[in-house]
Amino acid sequence: MSMHNYNHFKTSKAHCPSCNGDRICKVYGCKTINFNEEEAQIHGEVTHSLLQCCGCEAMFYEVSSWNSEEIDYSYDDFGNEKCAPIYDKCIYPKPEIKNKPTWLSEIEDIDITIFKILNEVYIAYENDAHTLATVGLRTVLDRATEILNIDPAITFKEKLENLKTKGFIGGKEFDILEVVIDAGNAAAHRGWITRDKNVRQLLSTVEIFIERSLVQADSVLQLKKFIPEKPKRVKTT
Ligand SMILES: [Zn+2]
Repeated sequence: MSMHNYNHFKTSKAHCPSCNGDRICKVYGCKTINFNEEEAQIHGEVTHSLLQCCGCEAMFYEVSSWNSEEIDYSYDDFGNEKCAPIYDKCIYPKPEIKNKPTWLSEIEDIDITIFKILNEVYIAYENDAHTLATVGLRTVLDRATEILNIDPAITFKEKLENLKTKGFIGGKEFDILEVVIDAGNAAAHRGWITRDKNVRQLLSTVEIFIERSLVQADSVLQLKKFIPEKPKRVKTT
């Protein structure tokens, strides 16, 4: 068992990106900068810290900030008002997604483009770029339908209907994937906020879809015989 002596280091609790959980960390150094925007009448603090997790020993950087606009007001047991700043914390590097699908390397051999888009989605998700991740998922889905020989010229909705007709997806998956393809519009027009939980759900749905329809070769072969010839579109003028 290795022993560590952290006695002469200041410690602080922070979110370790490697453990992906709150841990006691050694503080190697920190610098607090105060700001005061007179015109906007906002003041606050930003603290930059270089930390090391006392559990896994990973090194990381944390930025912790608060401002006078976001204060938590409450009352103590005697009815006196008390206030505490609400801290916004951000760490670098970001925690990597655990449990990435085991078939990721296989998909690279199947189609390098979808592999690249999918990896960019993971990077966006890991960096809390939820809207970008969601829009990226739509692109992943679009590429997947192309690999499955669905006409790239038709609309997203038609592609989904094609997937359903051909047995690649069921009714419920259709509804969820419809949210994936619609996410940009949904966020803009229907107030659909892409929160971490939402993106994780959409990501899982797309992962399951890709695994079943692209990675599991047997099912691809089985399903292939249900794919009808691409019908010629009748042009109406
Ligand atoms: Zn750790």
